[in-house]
Amino acid sequence: MRCSRCVLPSTTPGISFDAQGVCNYCRKAKPVTYQGEEALLEVIDRFRGQGRYDCIVALSGGRDSSYVVIKAVRDYKLKVLAFNYRNPFTHPVASENISRIQKRLGVDLVQLEFPGDIHRRTMRHNLVAWMRRPSLAMVPMMCVACKMLWKPILDIASRHDIKIAFSGSNPYEQTTFKRELLGIDAEASVARYYTGYIFGLVRESLSNVRYLASEVLPTTVKGYMFSGP
Ligand SMILES: [Zn+2]
Repeated sequence: MRCSRCVLPSTTPGISFDAQGVCNYCRKAKPVTYQGEEALLEVIDRFRGQGRYDCIVALSGGRDSSYVVIKAVRDYKLKVLAFNYRNPFTHPVASENISRIQKRLGVDLVQLEFPGDIHRRTMRHNLVAWMRRPSLAMVPMMCVACKMLWKPILDIASRHDIKIAFSGSNPYEQTTFKRELLGIDAEASVARYYTGYIFGLVRESLSNVRYLASEVLPTTVKGYMFSGP
């Protein structure tokens, strides 16, 4: 059976269907509302910096973040400091895009790598743990090392007295189901989001104690502390 509206199959975790064959995810989905560009421009004008940079932009070299840099420089006339985390899985095309953006738009770039092969080791460890007891809710643990980049971004912003931080994404790739699998409602407040994450991760880790290895635990804690809702 499939949802008559979104075609999700009956094998989807937590799915149920009503009499019309519409799934619970469709029923509780709320349309996205945008505040609009005017509201964004107001924020930009309020927090535009007096110093060398107006904003910091997380730049992976992919489509969304590259667009944000172009938009910030060309349309909003912002002085951009780009931030890139060079992780072990960074694709050569992404690196090429970043140097092209730097040259064409003349933005400064800070590049960061974590020492000691920590990203690859954490990913391998969590993948092995996951295979011992596969759980959909713990799939995000595979990319937990990436979440560590938020603290350096905030540190750099504060060092340069930057009040605006941009990161790019698009509504078609939203993955709220990941947090819902940990028992956190899509509408949860910030406080409920964090407590939900802690309880969800602890509950899952107690069912699979391999996640609790001292080697990778600090990475997980640091990652989740600075990744917001
Ligand atoms: Zn549906």
